[in-house]
Amino acid sequence: MGLVRVPGPSLTLPPMATRCRIAPSPTGPLHIGTARTALFNFLFARHVGGTFVLRIEDTDVARSTLGNERDILEGLHWLGITWDEGPEVAGQPARGPYGPYRQMQRLDLYRTASDRLLSEDKAYPCYCTPDELAADRAAQEATHQPPRYVGRCAHLTAEQRRAREAEGRRPAVRFRVGEGVVAFDDLIRGHVEIDTTALGGDLVIVRSNGTPLYHFTVCVDDAAMAISHVIRGEDHLSNTPRHILLFRALGADVPTFAHLPLILNADRSKMSKRKSQTAIDDYRAEGFIKEAIVNYLALLGWSPGTEEEIFSLEQLGERFELERVHSGGAVFDRERLEWLNGQWIRRLPDEDLVERVLPYLVTRLEERRAEGATVHMPSGDDIVPLLPLVRERLPLLGSIADLVDFLFVDELAVEPALLVPKRWDVATTAAALGDARQVIADVGSISFEADELEAGLRALVDARGWKAGDLFMAIRVAITGRTATPPLFDTLVALGLERALARLDAAREALEDLT
Ligand code: GLU
Ligand code: ZN
Repeated sequence: MGLVRVPGPSLTLPPMATRCRIAPSPTGPLHIGTARTALFNFLFARHVGGTFVLRIEDTDVARSTLGNERDILEGLHWLGITWDEGPEVAGQPARGPYGPYRQMQRLDLYRTASDRLLSEDKAYPCYCTPDELAADRAAQEATHQPPRYVGRCAHLTAEQRRAREAEGRRPAVRFRVGEGVVAFDDLIRGHVEIDTTALGGDLVIVRSNGTPLYHFTVCVDDAAMAISHVIRGEDHLSNTPRHILLFRALGADVPTFAHLPLILNADRSKMSKRKSQTAIDDYRAEGFIKEAIVNYLALLGWSPGTEEEIFSLEQLGERFELERVHSGGAVFDRERLEWLNGQWIRRLPDEDLVERVLPYLVTRLEERRAEGATVHMPSGDDIVPLLPLVRERLPLLGSIADLVDFLFVDELAVEPALLVPKRWDVATTAAALGDARQVIADVGSISFEADELEAGLRALVDARGWKAGDLFMAIRVAITGRTATPPLFDTLVALGLERALARLDAAREALEDLT
């Protein structure tokens, strides 16, 4: 890390303040990778007491949308990844002394910086036409050379430039990459060296239409915003030598770099929209909760060095160290995410869990109602007594609907064939459900409790020489329409005696249709 430079005799200076940033481009909704990068920056800043900056890189005007920007900011906010400095949002003014924090509001700064590089001859106007550049590329391809700017405009005289201006050519600005090796010590990748000959020649930093390009704006901004640590995805590792050259040319301190491992699909290819669900909002809609997503994202590249797996955002802030981020690709494992989600759902306080699952149940019941069913819309109070039955069975918030929707619809659509256990025939099943109805009615006339229902039904199973699983499956399907439900006896109690008996009767009638 560089030291703050002050004129005068050498002093022992405090280290530069720690400042990191996330710089999303609003060209798509909040992506898993962006959320992970944001989280690691946030955690790093929390851990060292630094400042976390959010900057919107919206210079790709054709592909940037306000909708995407909103999705990114809302998604980060939802996850609890808050920034110390950033643009004005939702009527709130920009925060921080280095604004504006949207690149399209910083165009003057880029212009000033490129003018300075031009005046210092660290950059030059390039008058090459698209046709000339295409011909250069074709010639290089023909001779199996990597693409590279040939330097046609690198040493034009003032007169030659004037002649091209007179033809009406608008120049791009090209940065002189120069010769030599660029080396840096990445906090995750270790020592990296690259020869400038591999960089493709002098680099366009401003297009002929005046729009500045990513490599340039990112460096101008990181310098202007006093960013000390650039923590970003490994896909940017190959950009870093260019950035270092630009920082030097701008007379800025070169920040410390940390490149995070790629997030991979199960087949170890780079995670992409095509092969995986990548939008955070899609996970949220499915019923993943923020606690689990944050916990999971942290483990995509970082490990605590112990067997522990469950971490809150706050605990992560205490524990997170860039030194413990590994450099190998991190495979996205949806099963592990679901497991963590289930773990976090178990930990939610009752009221909080009710509030989060209720909308999923209501949506399901609205669908049922649209199909013609009579439904009773539940309130939170209806859900509270069900929590012990479902809490440990929710990989997703949305899983609530399959577990309890049958409690809130009047007519149950039961597939008659599903009622008949494998070892039984229709007649046996019908008779067994009749016997079971009798037991349930008898128990219910005294006290309708899970333990007593179980004792009564097990006695029936023993007396008849059945397998308990067969009878219980037939009852389960009869009262829920499903083969997988919360525990049977609790489910009977939740349904209530009268409705349970009515459903058993309806099931027996349905079986008659099968004979
Ligand atoms: N806007 C760039 C991106 O979203 C930022 C890259 C960087 O962090 O330097 O990939
Ligand atoms: Zn040129």
